[in-house]
Amino acid sequence: MTSSTPLSAYEAIKRKRDGHPLPGETIASLIASYTRGQLPDYQMTALCMAIFFRGLSPPELSSWTQAMLNSGEVLDLSDIPGRKVDKHSTGGVGDKVSLSLAPLCASCGVKVPMISGRGLGHTGGTLDKLESIPGFRVDLSVSDYRRLLGEVGACLIGQTQSLCPADKKLYALRDVTATVECIPLIASSIMSKKLAEGIDALVLDVKVGSGAFMKQVADARVLAQTMMGIGRGMGRKVVALLTDMDQPLGDAVGNALEVEEAVAMLRGQGPDDYREVTLALSSEMLLLGEVAQSQEEARRMLQEAIDSGRAIEKLRQIVRAQGGDARALDDAALLPRAKSVSELKSPRAGYIQSIDTEEVGLAAVALGAGRDRVDAKVDAAVGFTLLKKRGARVEAGEPLLRIHYNDASRLKAVEERMTRAFHIGDSAPVPKPLVLERMA
Ligand code: URA
Repeated sequence: MTSSTPLSAYEAIKRKRDGHPLPGETIASLIASYTRGQLPDYQMTALCMAIFFRGLSPPELSSWTQAMLNSGEVLDLSDIPGRKVDKHSTGGVGDKVSLSLAPLCASCGVKVPMISGRGLGHTGGTLDKLESIPGFRVDLSVSDYRRLLGEVGACLIGQTQSLCPADKKLYALRDVTATVECIPLIASSIMSKKLAEGIDALVLDVKVGSGAFMKQVADARVLAQTMMGIGRGMGRKVVALLTDMDQPLGDAVGNALEVEEAVAMLRGQGPDDYREVTLALSSEMLLLGEVAQSQEEARRMLQEAIDSGRAIEKLRQIVRAQGGDARALDDAALLPRAKSVSELKSPRAGYIQSIDTEEVGLAAVALGAGRDRVDAKVDAAVGFTLLKKRGARVEAGEPLLRIHYNDASRLKAVEERMTRAFHIGDSAPVPKPLVLERMA
């Protein structure tokens, strides 16, 4: 083998399985061949599983990210005035921050180009949430994406055949092959999308806790450092916040339910935890976007955008510009609604000690809110409304949550899962901060 002769897929899988590094040419060739549809899913799955167990060294990670980035176009948005800043979350349950952050920051003068993802594993995806708005299109052409970014100030799309096609395929494959929770695969997936979209700077929301891919702060820190290293290596400013995902963010879990909650937030209502995380990340966006000079000024600007109605109006503009029916933001009856709603009652009195948030995410997938196969269709209407969160007092028989469902045959298993997910004890747990750490 010479350094310019890529290994075959079989040799590469075997090498990685046995803990040996892969040459850059091999990585480039495998990603290119997978994107073209030549390398089959089963070999890419085996390779991702080997990477899951063996990891990627820094040079391998750099080759892998570059190959993903170069699988499509890398945009240059320098002709659009203003700083282009995006936010990306590593994934959580009830994490609808992008839906409120993008209009909020755009209404304060930051340009927000956003390539988002679909549901992944037990976590929800921004694209699935947006598509619950009737008519909303996430598959815009690159020229429409550019135009809307200039005209509206924000545009939210998915990976396409021309933007990060390698991630489009790999993301869907990892979703159903249990190969998501892997620092190099997450870091390369996120950073290839972000670097392709033409940003100047990036805010990372690295989720930590039972509903995140990183359960421990130490792992989340490594993931944040890995992504920051990739971004800075490519000349971008990157700030990361480690935020709590030890319970769902906000009260709504499920695509259309989360859109409704995001709209409420932009009207100055909605749950405090969701508002606080959105505002913390949005403040970082305003600083990196150079429209605010301090956190205090950023907070004032964001509050003013909410109070004046500019933020919700910006969301209406985005929805209209991307083909959606903006009336659904003012009339939730136009959003998909589940046929049935039932309440899950608490088996005992006490305080909510903790919520196994991965279990909540998996229960949402089991209801139909996510996928269990690459070609599965998402049910936009189903999900949960949490009525009790960590620290709340609950009486025996009092409702813990509402289950919005369409398929009654799924209900019993989901109720069992959700009962298991709520841990109820005799005393109130110690409160946890929402923002655990800032890394800049
Ligand atoms: N978000 C992404 O875009 N990719 C991942 O792999 C995980 C979270």
